[in-house]
Amino acid sequence: MTEIRRLAAALDAALPALLDLAEHTVNTDSGTHHAPGVEAVSTLWAERLAAEGFALERTPLPGFGPQVTARLAPGGNGPRLLLLGHADTVWPAGTVAGWPFARNGEWLTGPGVGDMKTNVAMAIHALSVLRGAGALGGLSAVTFCIVPDEEIGSPGSRAWLEAEARRADLCLTLEPCRPGGGVVIGRGAVGAVYVRAEGVTAHCGAAREQGASALAALAALVAPIEALGDPASGLSATVGILRGGDARQVVPGWAEMHIDLRAPDDASAEALLAALRALLARPPADPRVRIAVQGGFTRPAFPTHAGTRALLAKAEALGAALGAPVFGLVSRGGSDGSFAARLGVPTLDGLGPVTHEVCSRRERVELSSIVPRAAILAGLIEAAAEGSLGL
Ligand SMILES: [Zn+2]
Repeated sequence: MTEIRRLAAALDAALPALLDLAEHTVNTDSGTHHAPGVEAVSTLWAERLAAEGFALERTPLPGFGPQVTARLAPGGNGPRLLLLGHADTVWPAGTVAGWPFARNGEWLTGPGVGDMKTNVAMAIHALSVLRGAGALGGLSAVTFCIVPDEEIGSPGSRAWLEAEARRADLCLTLEPCRPGGGVVIGRGAVGAVYVRAEGVTAHCGAAREQGASALAALAALVAPIEALGDPASGLSATVGILRGGDARQVVPGWAEMHIDLRAPDDASAEALLAALRALLARPPADPRVRIAVQGGFTRPAFPTHAGTRALLAKAEALGAALGAPVFGLVSRGGSDGSFAARLGVPTLDGLGPVTHEVCSRRERVELSSIVPRAAILAGLIEAAAEGSLGL
């Protein structure tokens, strides 16, 4: 086994190139709905993987950037490794102009710097260092999926990722590491439900009785929906968006509501969704209002397997040897790792750099965390190649 400090030293030598790759991608707007930007980012990463010997497959996803699958066959008989990253961010086109990549002392900032532009650069360099050391040879396959629609729940990528997960023996996911060294060993289920109401427009003064307010019908549902949550049980139902109507003096003929659902496991998720559907199926006070419901749970729960605990134990040991603490936590947010974990694949998530205030304008990466976290990732991959994870 390569001593972890030697991996860290090799990654430290690669840090300028790693930061250069991170800067290029941070400075490319790649919000989920900005397909050309997502494509530019995934293409740059794919070229770097191709230079490491990966074969590339590219599948278009209409309306989004491409789904890129990069495959390496190191020639061993050992486990098949799946790495998950995404090229999209939550930030719309134009964000970079006002918030470009910057290094302020110990911090890196910029849109998607920790979720997950620096993260994929770390993984590419970790693979490069391992390949250079001949340390991948025990693996029978390395598959690196670059997802274009992760930030909206990967609705167009789920089937692809599940197919890849079924062919994998372990999955490492590159979401950011939490402050203090938290990696993700479990996640709750996440749902997104969209409700649309159609009413009848009318002038509010001259013909109020002829109108049927779609907005009033949905507004009356906000409190009952949110009452379905139970913080003590980890259940929540939150109306994130309620909007409708066209003018002050017009009875709203349309309204829509976006509801976020969270549940600790798949059974409680199903029960929460059933309760929500029952509530939304009740006839509105004004029977002329029509209500249509779409959506459901987009992310299954990520249960913590024995194999995931084995990955965590290895990550903790590697971190201890580097003086970079690692601890496991269960998150209420979703990620693509949930798809693999639900299929029983040992999965460890949160293997990116230590990132603070993810998905806010204050998102920032601890510069000093990049080398040790990349070394922990490399050490996990090496251990898998050596068959020493006990999976
Ligand atoms: Zn992410």
